[in-house]
Amino acid sequence: MKLLHAGDKSKAICYHCNALVHTTYQRRDIPFSDGVGIATDILAGVCDVCDRVVSTPAQSTLAIKASRDKAMVPVEAQLPAIYMDALDLACYRIDSSVNSDFRKRLLMYYVGKSSKSPAWSDRLVAALKNKVEFELPAESARKRLSIKVSKPMADEIAAVMAVTKLSKTDLMKSIVLQINEDIIKPKMPKNFEELRTLALIANC
Ligand SMILES: [Zn+2]
Repeated sequence: MKLLHAGDKSKAICYHCNALVHTTYQRRDIPFSDGVGIATDILAGVCDVCDRVVSTPAQSTLAIKASRDKAMVPVEAQLPAIYMDALDLACYRIDSSVNSDFRKRLLMYYVGKSSKSPAWSDRLVAALKNKVEFELPAESARKRLSIKVSKPMADEIAAVMAVTKLSKTDLMKSIVLQINEDIIKPKMPKNFEELRTLALIANC
């Protein structure tokens, strides 16, 4: 492998110029594609024609990932183990091939819907009433729900907490209780097609 320096030359496809172009490696600030955060002073291949970043070399990969992780907001809750089991069972029912990353997507699906629709957020508040019954048969073991979400998603969680007046832990509980009603209990899960599509995207 070759360690690159600022000023080194290369060639790459530039999608702006729509051509194979000469590039020069330079330190640049690179915004993430979803607009959430920026990686600073990353060595990148810059198109000599249009001055846009067109490639990032191997030596920049970890720095980009580290910046990406820093832009994410941790969401944590200690839940009775039965909640994590229910969440995992729902994930499995939607698509048996998904990995643990899909927990976050499913939770955020409910957060997203509830931040836009009072009907959805009202259902979460109502679902929390099933808490006592749901937790009774469970053992005392607790599990940590630990996910990292983008800043806009963290803002949506805060918005739903404000509307429902639920703590973060109770919000996560209420979502799992609603998931139990929507996805685990019914013969045919609610919004099944939409959730299947979500799983397909997650698997890519
Ligand atoms: Zn270009």
